Amino acid sequence: MLTLEEGIRHLQDSGAKITSQRVAIMKSLEGRTDHPSAEQIFMELKPEYPTLSIATVYSTTQLLSQASMIRILTIDEKKVYFDPNTKPHGHFMCRLCKRIVDIPIDVSALAPYKGMYDISSIDDIEVFLYGECSKCSDL
Ligand SMILES: [Zn+2]
Ligand SMILES: [Zn+2]
Repeated sequence: MLTLEEGIRHLQDSGAKITSQRVAIMKSLEGRTDHPSAEQIFMELKPEYPTLSIATVYSTTQLLSQASMIRILTIDEKKVYFDPNTKPHGHFMCRLCKRIVDIPIDVSALAPYKGMYDISSIDDIEVFLYGECSKCSDL
């Protein structure tokens, strides 16, 4: 999980400047479970940081992702979404409302594949499931 202190330390270690906008981006991602998009983070912070650009959101999240502080989800072709939970897990996206929810998938349950496919270890997972959420299919 991303904590603000760790995020700042990682940015410093990578030689990136610690600006108030970058701190605000990290703060807005900290502990979040709703997988916000870059546009969503931008819109949320824009009122308080009028000079913020979407490019800053992308570059900051890129640095955080490189430091394994967040995951960048490529679940949708049109938008990127962010997840401060870096533990292995899968995701479901509703095709209609675009809501993304966590799907717990235990990496150790995949152990049988190791023998079948000549794999020596499995330590991460990227699974995207698509369909309709129950809210949308009730409409
Ligand atoms: Zn839905
Ligand atoms: Zn997630």
